[in-house]
Amino acid sequence: MAGVDFVDVRKSFGAIPVIKGVNIEIEDGEFVILVGPSGCGKSTLLRMLAGLENISAGEILIGDKVVNALPPKNRDIAMVFQNYALYPHMTVADNMAFSLMLNGSPKAEIEKRVGTAAGILGLSKLLDRYPRQLSGGQRQRVAMGRAIVRDPQVFLFDEPLSNLDAKLRVAMRAEIKELHQRLKTTTVYVTHDQIEAMTMADKIVVMHDGIVEQIGSPLDLYDSPANLFVAGFIGSPA
Ligand code: ADP
Ligand code: MG
Repeated sequence: MAGVDFVDVRKSFGAIPVIKGVNIEIEDGEFVILVGPSGCGKSTLLRMLAGLENISAGEILIGDKVVNALPPKNRDIAMVFQNYALYPHMTVADNMAFSLMLNGSPKAEIEKRVGTAAGILGLSKLLDRYPRQLSGGQRQRVAMGRAIVRDPQVFLFDEPLSNLDAKLRVAMRAEIKELHQRLKTTTVYVTHDQIEAMTMADKIVVMHDGIVEQIGSPLDLYDSPANLFVAGFIGSPA
């Protein structure tokens, strides 16, 4: 496991700055949620951490290693996307095994890891199914299974529940938290949903227009919002 540090991170697309000097310290094992309105830069920050987007200035560290120039596969992180990105022509087992197969892991090791992840996620009886034969919640679990089998230092989630209906969303929040309590893997989770942030996070980072407005526990933000934006966004009395 490892913590994550953003140090004065900046990003422009062409001449347009979208991340304007962001500092965030994430402790080893923490569950941190980046929250803020659509377009404020949450996905861009996550994609820079994953190595899917270059950074324009500053430093990103995973553990004590600066990763600015490292390709995604050398960062020891696993990302769960909003649209799941499952391979439709592969079974649940093969979807989970695929990245390990690419790495050349031994077959027995792959089977063990897939079996363990499937057990944790309640997928053991669905390993031979194809994605089209699964419910939305089950697909979401397979997407998480693909991340878990890699046993990464850091999990990244980008709005993983936004395609689910309200009832399932609430259930999956609890599942993701239980998973974190079990594995204790450092997690950076993006959402635009204040309730998700307030109910799931150890620490919340409130973003607005490319900057961080406040970092604190859900209670800190509720009791002592730094400004009107945070108060309005979190929904507490200013
Ligand atoms: P969020 O995830 O908070 O909704 P994003 O990180 O996706 O926000 O986007 C932040 C800003 O950067 C938005 O104004 C968006 O239009 C812009 N942006 C994101 N990706 C690109 C890109 N590849 N090229 C140009 N602009 C982009
Ligand atoms: Mg986004």
